[in-house]
Amino acid sequence: MAGSFSQNFMSLFPPTAEDLAVVIGLKEGRSPSGKAWADKAQRAECLRQWITGLRHEDFPVPVFKAIFSEFAAKYLSTVVVRFINSRDPFPAGEFNILLSIREVPHFSRYLRSKHRTAAPGKQLGRIIAERFANALKMHKRRNIVPLPHDYLAQMESLSEIFRFHSMHQEPIPIDARNTILDFLRARDCQSVANPLTKETIRLLSLILQDNPYLEDLPKEVANRLKCRDVCGLPGCDISTNLKTCARCKMICYCCPGHQRVHWSSKSSYPHRLSCFPTKY
Ligand SMILES: [Zn+2]
Ligand SMILES: [Zn+2]
Repeated sequence: MAGSFSQNFMSLFPPTAEDLAVVIGLKEGRSPSGKAWADKAQRAECLRQWITGLRHEDFPVPVFKAIFSEFAAKYLSTVVVRFINSRDPFPAGEFNILLSIREVPHFSRYLRSKHRTAAPGKQLGRIIAERFANALKMHKRRNIVPLPHDYLAQMESLSEIFRFHSMHQEPIPIDARNTILDFLRARDCQSVANPLTKETIRLLSLILQDNPYLEDLPKEVANRLKCRDVCGLPGCDISTNLKTCARCKMICYCCPGHQRVHWSSKSSYPHRLSCFPTKY
């Protein structure tokens, strides 16, 4: 198509953690075509295509999680600082990568961490809530900023981040909280073309209203967030007396035997490919 980007971003697929760092500008590097990046829009489009590919139902989940785990282990603290300091309230690169890696254990570990490397993360829930509330207000005033459909779809993802705000996170100001709650209430009444599921609306409303602590969440949710729900060896469903991997602290096993098997397993994705220690 004339005027569209001619580069085939998927020629470099799946991207490595380093490729992801390059596309959002954390590292120097060329685009998949071998040429220098044209502009921000080109980078954003490349990232969008990669993420869509990684999250596609045909793409193996363990591989996708391994790529995002490695990225999170190496770059999460940098991405958060860049997001916080950005003048653009939702910078495409940083925001989309944050939303994409929210399911890997490194992400919840970072949000819970008391290490100083993770200190900026304590502002994350508050800043996203404030920026989101701001976008909602501007939209209401029929300002030039339209409320992107993406924002709505991303509310679901945001619940993962907000969920942590009550634990070690800075509180969300009442004003921002109420703006988002009003918005959620209004969405609840709509059924057509509403990308938010009732469950998301319910969960987000609860989180914003009640300020729940992790301990109050159902046990299986809490355990999942702590990454300690079940032995990491696929097929083993033992969930008691689990011991955490000392290197990455992101996975646990019922016994040293299962840890050994999973480390170099050939049948499934071996843990050695996703075991990345972090500073946080
Ligand atoms: Zn096991
Ligand atoms: Zn490990």
